[in-house]
Amino acid sequence: MPAINYTKRQSLFENKIHGLGLDAFLVTNQTNVSYLSGFRGHDAVALFAKGKRYLITDSRYIEEAQEDAKGFRIELVRESTYRTLGELVKAARLKRIGFESMNLPFGVVERLKEALPGRMALRPFRGVVEGFRSVKDRAEVELIKKSVRLAKSVLADIEKKVRPGVSEGYLAEFIRQGFIKKGAVPGFDPIVASGANSSKPHARPTTAKIRDNSFVMVDIGCRLNGYNSDITKTLRVGKPAPRFKKIYEIVSAAQKLAIEKIAPGKNASEIDFAARGYICREGFGRNFGHSLGHGVGMDVHEEPTISKMSRAVLKAGMVFTVEPAIYIPGFGGIRIEDMVLVTDKGVEVLTK
Ligand code: ZN
Ligand code: ZN
Repeated sequence: MPAINYTKRQSLFENKIHGLGLDAFLVTNQTNVSYLSGFRGHDAVALFAKGKRYLITDSRYIEEAQEDAKGFRIELVRESTYRTLGELVKAARLKRIGFESMNLPFGVVERLKEALPGRMALRPFRGVVEGFRSVKDRAEVELIKKSVRLAKSVLADIEKKVRPGVSEGYLAEFIRQGFIKKGAVPGFDPIVASGANSSKPHARPTTAKIRDNSFVMVDIGCRLNGYNSDITKTLRVGKPAPRFKKIYEIVSAAQKLAIEKIAPGKNASEIDFAARGYICREGFGRNFGHSLGHGVGMDVHEEPTISKMSRAVLKAGMVFTVEPAIYIPGFGGIRIEDMVLVTDKGVEVLTK
């Protein structure tokens, strides 16, 4: 198993900071902090400043930070994170600091400005670290594959449990327990939705019992060693109405068309269109409201977004879901979700 190379991540990020014309960058998104430093706790911010790296956290996490964040100076919060940050910024005489505008509430930016020296410029940025994270290296792909294998084994266990009379909630709990027994944690609340309940894309499991001659949508994923998996299967119970088969085949064909199109250099929007166009031509365009897929890695939902509006261009190393669906209120929903890896030559389906 290749190890994660944090030094490489840090130096690529530092080159980027330089390229943006900044002398420092404040990272506040916790997944980004973890991606760059190896620190797995919470409530820490990372400051990259003129080749020096600081991790600022409080006494709850200080020991963990010292163990995990190699190459960082660990700063204990004094009074408040932003006071401590202000002192560091003053001492290092920083002038232009980038920050993650999607992860810093307006009120915090105001407090930060008060704590920082007057002539210092704070510049907002979006998606800088997320851009790096969207392309996985070999070590990350291996970790994602392990997470996928574990999720698939829990899915195989659940398939044996799905039968008339069992409740959605019981199955959802069985999935949670399954992940924990196998050494992972659920990456999100499992979705187990039977019959008409499945027409809500993110249905919550209820006490409803599965009926014979119906179907159940199961959407599960776990986090293992910091990396996620995300799979949806729509399972038959007995002999569902003929409409089920017809719709299932449309969703399945749409997914196939999208996967065939995946290759480096393709626009994410083209991949979305391959599936959506087909579903529209079959007359179900209005029954597929969400995007076709999303990146998966340290977060369950990350870049790239595979949607109509997405401006992402596919690169080898990207990992994302392909999850077309058709939801019909009163009847139910059918979604098929697989995870794929963009390779140099094209695509590898990770969940098959
Ligand atoms: Zn899912
Ligand atoms: Zn998903």
